[in-house]
This record gives sequence, structure tokens and C-alpha cells, in this order.
Amino acid sequence: MKLMQGLIRSSSELIVKEALALGADLVGGVDPAGLDGDMERSLQMMFDIATAADKGIDLHLHDGGEPGLATLRRFAELTMESGLQHRTAVSHAYCLGEQTESDVQPTLDMLKHAGVTLVSSVPIDRPMPRGSQVLNTGVNFMLGSDNIRDAWSPFGNGDMLQRASRMAERENWVSDDRLLGTYAWVSNGKLTPSIGDPADFMLVRALNAQHAIASVPARAAVFKKGKRIR
Ligand SMILES: [Zn+2]
Repeated sequence: MKLMQGLIRSSSELIVKEALALGADLVGGVDPAGLDGDMERSLQMMFDIATAADKGIDLHLHDGGEPGLATLRRFAELTMESGLQHRTAVSHAYCLGEQTESDVQPTLDMLKHAGVTLVSSVPIDRPMPRGSQVLNTGVNFMLGSDNIRDAWSPFGNGDMLQRASRMAERENWVSDDRLLGTYAWVSNGKLTPSIGDPADFMLVRALNAQHAIASVPARAAVFKKGKRIR
């Protein structure tokens, strides 16, 4: 079993290195404790590969409870030690919503200090990092869609406006400010484009951006690189 794990580990290391050589822009990882069974070794390998290739990291973390929080703290430490501040992210991090605010605050403080971004798909079936606490701590936060109609979950649709809306509803953010705040987590944060920006945008029928986030209207048109694609 140990030998088998060793073989799997070294072959996945090779695959990740090959992917980077082919142009992958981030090193990924998933559940260093729960899935890899060796949190320290798994994280060390992620950071070794990332620093050697001068790439950032996106760690997918479902591990709950103390193993999850310990992984986040070690991830923050290694981010600092490797000089990868503002280039690493952790997706999901359910554990930050599982315990009390005061229990998870020290871990959030470390993530803030190390410039680690948190990314959430805004699940409705389990805890997630508390939006207000993340905001108050000043941790960089983004939303993602995770699965899009696949074997893992058939409920995804890649609609980031809907994720922003779900985030605001989950936190009961009903003021203009708070509704608008979620827009920055699913976009470049700009409502008015400047000359030179990539022409990736969508048009919706809404009174304003906060109305669009609250009502999630059908897209009237979607543009990618200046071309209408829908
Ligand atoms: Zn996921």
C-alpha cells in the first residue's frame, strides 16, 4: 500500500510538471490530509513544484474540521516561506464555516497576512466561509462555479451573476452597497469599461447592477473578445 501510494504520488508529480511545461498556469492540489493522507508532504510538494516553475497555486480543500483548518494555516505559512504571497488560492475551504467565528478567526488572519485568496462556489448544502467575516478580515475573496453539469454535480451552469446573487441572498446582503460588493467577486469589479479593456461583457435588462444581481435576468447578449456569442 505504501509503495503504491509512493508510485501514485511520483507519477502525479510528473504529470503536474508536464502540464506546467505545456503551459498550465497554476499548480493544483486537493485535500492534502483527507485524500493524499499526508498533509505536510502533499503541501510541500505543491509548493516545491510551484516555486521551481514560478507559478501560483490553487488548492481545492474539502477537508473539514481541524484537519481543514490546520491545512489552511500550513498553506498560509508555506505561501509566506515560498514568497508566493498574492499568488495562491484555496477553493471551498468549508471548514471556515463549520466552527464558530472566533474559532476560525486566527486561521483567517493568517490567510490575510499571507495574501491567500479564498474562492467559493457558494454551496447551499453545506457550510462555507462566512462572507461578512471574510470581508471584515480583509481576505481577498472570489466566487467560482465549480462543476458544470458533470458526474459530480448536475446543478452547475457557469452563471456567475447567479452565484453573486446566491452569495448576497445567503448572507442577507440587501443594501445597494452589499449587493454591489458581490459584483466585484465575479468580475473585474468595473461597471464601466475603459479603453483597452478586453471586450468581454454581457447585457441584461435591469435598472442597475444591484438590481441585476438581485433578479438575475436572462442575458440579452453576451460578448467575448468583442464578438457576440449569445
Ligand atoms: Zn470542488
